[in-house]
Amino acid sequence: MNLKDLLGNSKDNTLSGQKWHMLRQSIVKHLLSAGNATIAEISSELQSSVPTITKAVNELLVEGNVVDMGKISNSGGRRPSLYSINPTCAFFLGVEVSRTNMSIGLQNIKNEFISIDLRIPFALKNSQESLLEFCNLINNYIEESSVEKELIVGICINFSGRINSMEGFSYNYFFSENRPLTEIISEQLNLPVHLENDSRAMAFGEYCEGVVDDEQNIIFLNYSWGVAIGMITDGKLYYGKSGYSGEFGHSTIFDNEIMCQCGKLGCLETEISGWSLVNQFKAALEQGKQSKVVLSENSDLQHLDIIAGAVNLEDGLCVELVTKQSEKMGRYLSILLNIFNPDLLVIGGDFSQLGEYALLPIQSALKKHSLGLVNRDMKLKKSTLGHRVGVIGACCIVKEKMLSPLFKQ
Ligand SMILES: [Zn+2]
Repeated sequence: MNLKDLLGNSKDNTLSGQKWHMLRQSIVKHLLSAGNATIAEISSELQSSVPTITKAVNELLVEGNVVDMGKISNSGGRRPSLYSINPTCAFFLGVEVSRTNMSIGLQNIKNEFISIDLRIPFALKNSQESLLEFCNLINNYIEESSVEKELIVGICINFSGRINSMEGFSYNYFFSENRPLTEIISEQLNLPVHLENDSRAMAFGEYCEGVVDDEQNIIFLNYSWGVAIGMITDGKLYYGKSGYSGEFGHSTIFDNEIMCQCGKLGCLETEISGWSLVNQFKAALEQGKQSKVVLSENSDLQHLDIIAGAVNLEDGLCVELVTKQSEKMGRYLSILLNIFNPDLLVIGGDFSQLGEYALLPIQSALKKHSLGLVNRDMKLKKSTLGHRVGVIGACCIVKEKMLSPLFKQ
């Protein structure tokens, strides 16, 4: 029995069979929490006899779910063996999709990457063909990996926009009224599928493996083509009633009559976002401003070109536009700080590549506009996981979700 099966219900319906199954689950749970343990430690923790635990651990060893780490040192007398979860007994797949590319990573149960492919070209379109191509890319990735598919416990896919993770619907991409998207993708991949909002997954990635130390109340800003936040309160991801929390970019705060991508006028994104940066850059050129970032007639200019222009070329216009946006961003973030009083604000997304060009204006605007007491209470950090953050978050989310039956006992 592999770990994936062990997470489910006992196939033996007798009382003793079910008890034995639960005992084995409890051993796995203890080893996942403790890292490693001796038979005597597990026996004391689970209040079960040493011979019983020895028998169960031996079964888990034979199945490949547990490994013998060798004898422990510095103990008098007979030295007992130390046992741990076998890192390769279960794997978790994380996928992040954006408008023009997708990233995939496969982690083992110890959160170590077996492989990760970032920014594979993929045009996200709301069509059946695009959905099939998306599923094929994931299936190919699994086939080409060194991992047997039956050891993959589940997959988490991050999309931008409105995601109802509980019911498995994505409202911005591949929306189907009749069936949850998780069900449709699961049929294609033959794996349990979980959907997540991209900014929320990024927040969780930083929380599990990134800049977060012991902070428990965190706002992660995903400042990219669009703008959204992921929130962690008391160490848990915050979803709101149906999972639509964090849509900071669609707060209608400007009287500018500019139409947002969501259809409303004057959203924050209409002046502060990757797509508005592109419009601001083009408008500045039309007004006669000069830039080293060459814009040919047919060029599909991206906000990343302007960010690179500021960082790599120190282009005056690029620097002017990104610092102006970042200062405005700081002003509106200060509203969130006053409301949430977080321990930590993480600046993530493509704009975090700007380093101090973004961080300094944000920091100074936060100082100026947020309440001193709130600002003094909070740390400001830049995301450190770069483009991997979403995939890491997805792997951590699906791992937590799939292992949750163990921790509910
Ligand atoms: Zn909007």
